[in-house]
Amino acid sequence: MIIISACLVGVNCKYSGGNNDNEKVKEFLKDKEFIIICPEQLGGLATPRNPSEINYIDGSEVLNGNSKVITWENIDVTDNFVNGAKESLKIAQMYNCKQALLKESSPSCGCNFIYDGSFTGNKVCGMGVTAALFKENNIEVFSEKEL
Ligand code: SF4
Repeated sequence: MIIISACLVGVNCKYSGGNNDNEKVKEFLKDKEFIIICPEQLGGLATPRNPSEINYIDGSEVLNGNSKVITWENIDVTDNFVNGAKESLKIAQMYNCKQALLKESSPSCGCNFIYDGSFTGNKVCGMGVTAALFKENNIEVFSEKEL
């Protein structure tokens, strides 16, 4: 069983209220069992919602308590992101998922890159909060860009 970012298969859970529907992802999943999650919704955030970025290093540092997730209006949504990651992990473990296919660059789901916290569109190497928690729990994470 693979756990997937819901926005990649057309669910309108993105911060803007839209999705990141991806034909490559759907082709990849054709013969596979999968379950979908949106960590930000699972963490109690509304859709649509204000965009957020990690303000120091990446999701691993958020989990360690050294970094925060902040909206562009400077609201601290760290607890929502951490709770959403924990709920996502609970579901992944419930369904014995060994792999996670997650949306690149998201502050929750990014596997290799995230935005740098400046809300200027700059990206840096690093993982989102849920991707980092999955990796810490031995779930292989990869993004739609790696298909
Ligand atoms: Fe997609 Fe993940 Fe963002 Fe939810 S949290 S909209 S699944 S990238």
